[in-house]
Amino acid sequence: MENKVFKNHMQLEMDAVSENEALARIAVSGFLSSVDPTLEELDEIKTAVSEAITNSIIHGYEEKKGTILLRGRLTSEKKESTLHLEIEDYGKGIANVEEAREPLFTTKPEEDRAGMGFMFMEMFMDSLEIESVPGEGTKIRMLKKLKKNRVV
Ligand code: ATP
Ligand code: MG
Repeated sequence: MENKVFKNHMQLEMDAVSENEALARIAVSGFLSSVDPTLEELDEIKTAVSEAITNSIIHGYEEKKGTILLRGRLTSEKKESTLHLEIEDYGKGIANVEEAREPLFTTKPEEDRAGMGFMFMEMFMDSLEIESVPGEGTKIRMLKKLKKNRVV
């Protein structure tokens, strides 16, 4: 753990309904306020969070009742802070994670899904891990390093 200093953590449990996409975005923005991210960083993080939450709602639970957990953790080193995010559902899970990660792969083409969600998460965050067990659920882990632009 060299120079890493633990700064803060949060956990939010919510129903798998689309209005909670906004709640998750706002919660993460608020959680980051102490490290003063740039607007670009914040936009990228919020987009990644939205994509993961939407996936839990429409694929994990197929728009039926369910629970989503959002966890955040902040650590800091000399020149940067790191945001660790987890989005977890207890839905149907992903049969083939490697295939699901491929750009343009979707199991719901008939619903106008483009298969871009994981690609955005990968593009906008520094790392993306997908852990999924069919019939049990899915856990997404993402990490993003934030430059310390200002003194906080
Ligand atoms: P888009 O995100 O562009 O609307 P999409 O959701 O199909 O389309 P991705 O977000 O990249 O594309 O996800 C790829 C596929 O992975 C999905 O079509 C779905 O089969 C599967 N998937 C993703 N997240 C979950 C989840 N939480 N539970 C079950 N399946 C999932
Ligand atoms: Mg998606």
